[in-house]
Amino acid sequence: MGKRGQRSAPFLLIMEQRITFPESDVILIGGGIMSATLGMLMKHLMPEAKIQIIEALEKPASESSDAWNNAGTGHAALCELNYTSRGEDGKINISKALKINEQFEESKQFWAWLLEQGALSNPEDFINQVAHMSFVYGDENVQFLKDRFATMSQHHFFEEMEYTEDKTKIKNWAPLLLDKRREGEKIAVTKMDCGTDVDFGALTRQMLKSLDADDTISLATSHIVKGIDRMKDGRWRLKTKNLKTGKKRELLTKFVFIGAGGAALPLLQKADIPEGKGFGGFPVSGQWLVCKDEEVVKKHSAKVYGLADVGAPPMSVPHLDTRVIDGKQALLFGPFAGFSPKFLKTGSLFDLTSSVKLDNLIPMLAVGKDNIDLTKYLIEQVMQTHADRVDALRKFFPNAAEESWELLTAGQRVQIIKEDEKKGGVLQFGTEVVSSEDGSISALLGASPGASTSVSIMLELLAKCYPDKMEGWKAKLQEMIPSYEKDLQTNKEDYQKIRSWAEETLKLA
Ligand SMILES: Cc1cc2nc3c(=O)[nH]c(=O)nc-3n(C[C@H](O)[C@H](O)[C@H](O)COP(=O)(O)OP(=O)(O)OC[C@H]3O[C@@H](n4cnc5c(N)ncnc54)[C@H](O)[C@@H]3O)c2cc1C
Repeated sequence: MGKRGQRSAPFLLIMEQRITFPESDVILIGGGIMSATLGMLMKHLMPEAKIQIIEALEKPASESSDAWNNAGTGHAALCELNYTSRGEDGKINISKALKINEQFEESKQFWAWLLEQGALSNPEDFINQVAHMSFVYGDENVQFLKDRFATMSQHHFFEEMEYTEDKTKIKNWAPLLLDKRREGEKIAVTKMDCGTDVDFGALTRQMLKSLDADDTISLATSHIVKGIDRMKDGRWRLKTKNLKTGKKRELLTKFVFIGAGGAALPLLQKADIPEGKGFGGFPVSGQWLVCKDEEVVKKHSAKVYGLADVGAPPMSVPHLDTRVIDGKQALLFGPFAGFSPKFLKTGSLFDLTSSVKLDNLIPMLAVGKDNIDLTKYLIEQVMQTHADRVDALRKFFPNAAEESWELLTAGQRVQIIKEDEKKGGVLQFGTEVVSSEDGSISALLGASPGASTSVSIMLELLAKCYPDKMEGWKAKLQEMIPSYEKDLQTNKEDYQKIRSWAEETLKLA
């Protein structure tokens, strides 16, 4: 882990439950990383716009964006094995890894620029350098990792990658992996020292505090959006309720972003736009084993990714995960999947059933029928005992003691179910921006890779909703995100220059 001296005092966000703008240019529903990122982009692209942010909970970023509810991986696709695959020709396909790496670079650049502007401070409060590693065992998997390394290390994004099967070296990189491991077991590891751990909750709260300090932007916490409908003049009317006082209000706006995380789908259904028809959601909850033994926590300093089980959703790749949360090092293993019909951790048990509508019934039934492996995997996961989970951990850390680990429930991920001409419906593991034809309302559905790629997702949203403005915004966007509209995959010199600046500014170098 990067050494960066004394930490600053914890960042505090003074919450005020107020709606400042009953009529606004923009309403952002939800106080997670997505709304905060869009708010920040909009503040600089259209400084005159009145923006009202509405968050149901008392403390923003307490759902998926909170550090304990996600894995905090700065997904640069360095060592997460689900971003690469072996093709039928035997070659390793790294195109997805390249794309995600480029997207994470955009996020880093934007955060670095915000630091330079004073909109963010103390980067160590939200981003820290933690080596990323891939870890496999068994002949076939070791061969896969070796071939993957050979392909990836040829590209300038991944040229610092190291590969080894040497147990002494692995012990040096990640001692827990070798603690009481069976003699003669074939294992291999790749390592990238430039990996990061990101506290997306801390980052979001810093962004929101900075936004709320602006005269034209206001954050109302403890306010829930209950209804969305369209006025005859084209504006949107939102029905809100103050969860502290019970007071209801109607707000008018020209543009709505539904950044409600798992709850985006029901709100999109309320908006009743043709583009939102046919979507369904399938919630998968996450659980971690958290290490209680400080001595063990201190011995491990890396995010070590393995291979997912058959049928497991791609984001369930198991990892032994060093986190930096509130300045303190933690060690987690997981995620284990669970089933809960809630769309948010704080959601309702009726979320799933009430999201079933006439227009998404066929896609949902088709997905149920076509994903037997996933269903089987989820049932097996839900049935697991503590001892079973520790057994899974022992594949990484053979000497793990049951009593040193406890179970923690993470956030909910609502996977997208989408209409499909051939199959009736498909389950999708990425994210999707769904916008009305006129660009006046947009929702973000899906979960992964999510927070790490929030900047590129919000740029995609801006391009969909404000197509006529993008050319005029180009210079500002290039100032905020120097690689904007540049192809870093083919331009090594630009990549190195921009990455050095971002990493130095974020104090990662
Ligand atoms: C187990 C797990 C591991 C993950 N690991 C990673 C990782 O390693 N790296 C990564 O990049 N991403 C990861 N993700 C994904 C990442 O957490 C999400 O993509 C990201 O946090 C989503 O941000 P958001 O702003 O859309 O949603 P959220 O952070 O969930 O914010 C939505 C907000 O909307 C509010 N809200 C909901 N309904 C209403 C309403 N009606 N009115 C007002 N407010 C409302 C909620 O209270 C909430 O605060 C992980 C997720 C999970 C669950």
